[in-house]
Amino acid sequence: MFLEKYTRVPLTFGPSPITHMKNLSKELGGDVEIYAKREDCNSGLAFGGNKIRKLEYLVPEAIEGGYDTLVSIGGIQSNQTRQVAAVAAHLGMKCMLVQENWVDYKAEIYDKVGNIELSRIMGADVRLNPAGFDIGIRKSWKEAMEEVKAKGGKPFPIPAGCSEHPYGGLGFVNFANEVVEQEKAFGFEFDYIVVCAVTGSTMAGMTVGFGFHGRQRKVIGIDASAKPEQTKEQIFRIAKNTAKLVDLPFEITEDDIILDERFGGPSYGVPNEGTMAAIRLCGRSEGVLIDPVYEGKSMAGLIGLIKEQKIPKGSKVLYVHLGGAPALNAYADLFKEG
Ligand SMILES: *Cc1c(COP(=O)(O)O)cnc(C)c1O
Repeated sequence: MFLEKYTRVPLTFGPSPITHMKNLSKELGGDVEIYAKREDCNSGLAFGGNKIRKLEYLVPEAIEGGYDTLVSIGGIQSNQTRQVAAVAAHLGMKCMLVQENWVDYKAEIYDKVGNIELSRIMGADVRLNPAGFDIGIRKSWKEAMEEVKAKGGKPFPIPAGCSEHPYGGLGFVNFANEVVEQEKAFGFEFDYIVVCAVTGSTMAGMTVGFGFHGRQRKVIGIDASAKPEQTKEQIFRIAKNTAKLVDLPFEITEDDIILDERFGGPSYGVPNEGTMAAIRLCGRSEGVLIDPVYEGKSMAGLIGLIKEQKIPKGSKVLYVHLGGAPALNAYADLFKEG
């Protein structure tokens, strides 16, 4: 494990808590014990989330290189951009955000409340752009960089979900180390780790981190992009790159990337019936909030896997709650009846 050779700027509180979801476990038959790793409250910066953990390994370069503006991109209700805005404010930097039209969901409040509201409050220069959903590198983002330069600033680029940054996977290698330490305190190991995947570096980092313990195939990704081929390819590529960075003693193969493709539809950012049921069940049984874009889909995946007994009876499973609840406000129309 050579994670130590990379500088980490702490942005999280420390290890995020693991909570036992007793009621939810019971609701689902009581044969599988569900625990949640709470990345949704991992930091005091604008409600936290998985991007904060990734940024711990990206921002050292921005600080050391004398950059003054963090530039990033996402959908209109992007959690990534909200977390970048928070980190920029925390570091005393400026922030420019390109918010594209990634989601086929219409509501009058969609570009006013939730994540985008929070980014504006934190002083980010928010640019709405009509381009559609794509997790790759975008033209509008390059243009934002040019604009910062033209004004005499030094822009530090942070790609969608931090994922195409070479260090995008390191934060979740660290996450795996954290879980392994917490398991020692619990006195048991989780049989499976269930995590949402879209731009891929969260799952890729975890796959590598648990790979050091021979557990890479215990990480089950639930696609929420509804473009699972692209997501899987990206997870695989980032995992291979991350494995090299931390000297994983074996090659990650395609078979090491377990991605369930069934729960991401109908499209990115648009919930299906199972997503909505999962959000309500989680809220009502546990008082834990999950969103319709990401965690509602991964929770629906977890519920599905337990019902199908693909996660066998007697298992202990770690559901990784990656954050995202601030987006719920933008979807208020879906919850008028609760
Ligand atoms: C970004 C995000 C994800 C997906 O993580 P990737 O690293 O992009 O695959 C899942 N859940 C939430 C809440 C997110 O903000």
